[in-house]
Amino acid sequence: MKILHTVSEYRAWHTENSLVAFIPTMGNLHAGHLSLVKQAKSLVDKGTGQKIVVSIFVNPLQFAPHEDFDSYPRTLTEDAKKLENTGAVDVIFAPSVSEMYPHGKEAQTQIIVPEISKGLCGDSRPHFFQGVATVVCKLFNCIQPSVAIFGEKDYQQLLVIKKMVADLNLPIEIIAAPIVREQNGLAMSSRNQYLAAEQKQQAGLLYQSLQTAAKAIRTSASIQKILADEKKQLSEAGFKIDYYELRDSSGLKSLAEFSEPARLFIAAYLGNTRLIDNIEI
Ligand code: AMP
Repeated sequence: MKILHTVSEYRAWHTENSLVAFIPTMGNLHAGHLSLVKQAKSLVDKGTGQKIVVSIFVNPLQFAPHEDFDSYPRTLTEDAKKLENTGAVDVIFAPSVSEMYPHGKEAQTQIIVPEISKGLCGDSRPHFFQGVATVVCKLFNCIQPSVAIFGEKDYQQLLVIKKMVADLNLPIEIIAAPIVREQNGLAMSSRNQYLAAEQKQQAGLLYQSLQTAAKAIRTSASIQKILADEKKQLSEAGFKIDYYELRDSSGLKSLAEFSEPARLFIAAYLGNTRLIDNIEI
């Protein structure tokens, strides 16, 4: 497994290894990230001949000034060990900020996927999806994958990327991977390490609530009441709810009534930590 830090090093490697399955990450890897590697491996095992490339890059463009860009955990040595242990990864692409943004503030081009970026996380993080789409487009141009794998943990992000790929005719297949959870149901996330042990236990309530609400929604017409009750219970348990909404799974339109395909989306703060999760209904 090679660790490459520059686009030119990567391009030199890529000329001899042109079929690539790609997993973009911000590092601080956990079992959720490693499940994406497993999914890539299963493609390779099917004889697609791809090499597997994982990028590790904490992208400043997707953080607002008050967010955790500076404190986001950067653990390249440990991440490299975990990826090496999978026995599946050929290259880690770990560029510096100046390698990815050589023109700094003079760069002008950004990717905006306006409709699907609205609502849910787009409301409380207005520049987030623009930052994500821009860096993923740049990474796609650097890495030139034939397939890229994204987790359903960040479901709105997955749809933003799918839309960008379709709209810009990028020759890349986007594959979705299911959410990997802790034993108590908490969706794995690099930010979970901001939680104290007790909070981590409590955070399992989010998934329990999603499951309860999903079950109720399948059998009842009063979606607004179900969501209001769940919000109330979570608030009483110490969460500050950002959103708790039912949306259609393909275009994220708000749903006042249940119709398939649908997904429930939640974002909530526990202390200062913002947690997101979603579940298919
Ligand atoms: P991140 O490093 O948080 O930017 O995540 C990199 C990729 O891993 C994204 O496609 C995420 O959706 C995916 N991912 C993160 N956490 C999980 C999880 N618990 N289960 C599945 N995929 C995940």
